[in-house]
Amino acid sequence: MTKTLLQVKNVKKHFPTGKRNLLGKHLQVLKAVDDVSFSIQEGEVFGLVGESGCGKSTLGRCITRIVSPTEGQVIFNDEDITQADSKRLKTLRRQVQMVFQNPHSSLNPRMTIKQTFMEILKVHGLAKGREMERMIDLLEKVGLPKDALDRHPHEFSGGQLQRIAIARALLVEPEFIMADEPVSALDVSVQAQILNLLVQLKEELSLTILFVAHDLSVVEHISDRVGVMYLGQIVEMADVEELYQNTLHPYTKALMAAIPIPNPKAKREELILEGDLPSPINLPIGCRFASRCRDCMAVCTQENPTLKEVKPGHYVACHLYS
Ligand code: SF4
Repeated sequence: MTKTLLQVKNVKKHFPTGKRNLLGKHLQVLKAVDDVSFSIQEGEVFGLVGESGCGKSTLGRCITRIVSPTEGQVIFNDEDITQADSKRLKTLRRQVQMVFQNPHSSLNPRMTIKQTFMEILKVHGLAKGREMERMIDLLEKVGLPKDALDRHPHEFSGGQLQRIAIARALLVEPEFIMADEPVSALDVSVQAQILNLLVQLKEELSLTILFVAHDLSVVEHISDRVGVMYLGQIVEMADVEELYQNTLHPYTKALMAAIPIPNPKAKREELILEGDLPSPINLPIGCRFASRCRDCMAVCTQENPTLKEVKPGHYVACHLYS
């Protein structure tokens, strides 16, 4: 039986904003993440998808404790890490690694790849006496030659740098990886190479990954399960095949319709998202998608639907399925 590695329970991340009252308190609150719950099994890739600004990256940062959630719990390996102190966070940084959209951000431009990698191994006291072996092995795993170790970040292309960023994350043998839009900044042809590499590494090393992206077609390629986010909440969640074959939520359907079909003769219903996106500072009392939903009913403007299991393992937050 697989083990639950990560549990996210009713996590909220709210940012006070706008003018302050006489007591110095902000008068408005931006609800970036608003009551999100899900779990990830060991060896599973969970894809989190949604438009920019839907809160998926903020949620990823709460999970990896780059920021603290306003409310809720993050349970990692049966341990509540929501209130972890700085000492615990230091050890957590080894267990939980991140791969970012811009690989430059995780590499020091003045240091060779070898210097960067050696520093990380030293800080964590890993591979003592076998450092070269470990570094070369990882470069091989991500498809780079060993002489890459003697070069600086500016000597590599974007795709090669993302391979190095992945090797850097794997260097400390993490239990969990948060990949935040890891292919979004790359050319389409390179995107496919990096995705294939991640799929291969996932199989080879049984990696557990939270894969954050704005593109459903990218997420499909690598994920076992997918959660779709809209304005701070998960609106649909299911196994990847179930989600793509039996899409339920009107928002997910619109995202699906936006995926280009490689066959020019194939036709798909056009579902263009119209209407205004509500502000996360001033959210409606009803369904947050109501202003853009062509299936909107009276109840939708009165009650925000909660995420419910409508089929085994398939969850949706929509009054159409109440
Ligand atoms: Fe559309 Fe209503 Fe479902 Fe919201 S709850 S997605 S408005 S049908």
